[in-house]
Amino acid sequence: MSHVGKKRKTDKTRQDRLYFDTYSDVTIHEEMLADHVRTNAYRMAIAKNTELIRDRVVLDVGAGTGVLSIFCAQAGARRVFAVEACSIAEQAANIVRQNAMEDRVEVIRGTVETVDLPERVDVIVSEWMGYALLHESMLNSVLYARDRWLKPGGVILPSRAELYISPICDPLVEDRLHFWYSVKDQYGVDMSCMWDFARKCIKNSDIAVSSVCVEDVLSHPARFAELDLNTVTVEQLRTVSGPFTCAAFGSAAVNAFCVYFTVTFPCPDKPLVLSTSPFKPETHWKQAVMYLDAPLEVVQDTPVTGEVRMFPSEDSDRHICVRVDFSVGDSKRQSKTFSIRDWNSDTGTTDP
Ligand code: SAH
Repeated sequence: MSHVGKKRKTDKTRQDRLYFDTYSDVTIHEEMLADHVRTNAYRMAIAKNTELIRDRVVLDVGAGTGVLSIFCAQAGARRVFAVEACSIAEQAANIVRQNAMEDRVEVIRGTVETVDLPERVDVIVSEWMGYALLHESMLNSVLYARDRWLKPGGVILPSRAELYISPICDPLVEDRLHFWYSVKDQYGVDMSCMWDFARKCIKNSDIAVSSVCVEDVLSHPARFAELDLNTVTVEQLRTVSGPFTCAAFGSAAVNAFCVYFTVTFPCPDKPLVLSTSPFKPETHWKQAVMYLDAPLEVVQDTPVTGEVRMFPSEDSDRHICVRVDFSVGDSKRQSKTFSIRDWNSDTGTTDP
């Protein structure tokens, strides 16, 4: 089902250029800063860790506009290295100046893998999460920074990430499919034969990034993976996987799975969790929705079990694939592999 195998692998330099290009525009930074759940979680977590940050040295991996670096300076950091690979670094430098922080915040343009810092750091802060957590695989850069620049016993904010899955019923896609049966009533032309074509188009192997309504969630979400940022290795990130078991709330038809993540900041009183759950206020990450080829009926307590495996796609290390092996009740085990559509690579790697 997957379309990725046919493509030529995009070379790493080109992948990185395409990736950093997206961060050179204002839109993505506007979207991130306008996401109050996200930005306030970091702001609170940094403020609550004032004891750890005051008079210490901080590295902000992928500083963007420099907002997290400035939060750290406000929390009393002695020195903050705001490392940013793309041209938004120029704006970060202006913002740092506008806030009279240039004595403490040093904006350094370059990738964290190549910059040379004058000293090791006590704290690493980074907002590295992509869709379905691992899309973009920026976490690799944070781990590089940890191993190269963090002092022993240093702190990473956030320090933990967790992935969850839940079966859902998205009634809108079923309505879209049913639409082809309604054309005859509306226009006197029977188009019901379009149903199967529409199903293949809509319930494809793309990961849809969309907000799931709580009413459409069919079970308590199940955690299938946890990453401890203090110890996880780049090698382990090549495949992030785990089993899941859910029990259906009641009678419904499962037509998709949704995957979402949380990240956790250590705090002196209690950990602070930034959640992208459909049960929590919406963030710009929304949820990752993956449609099954055909709906499966459940009743209360029907077990929905399986395994999720997340790994980089063949065409680009920065693009995530999600393979879900699942069975619903007594149905036979099925498997489907999904990926986030890669518009850049579609245009860039197709041979004439
Ligand atoms: N910290 C900012 C921006 C987060 S988005 C905020 O919270 O608003 C991630 C940023 O990291 C992007 O601007 C991207 O260009 C940068 N980035 C990603 N990988 C990087 C790397 N390896 N080295 C330096 N910057 C990187």
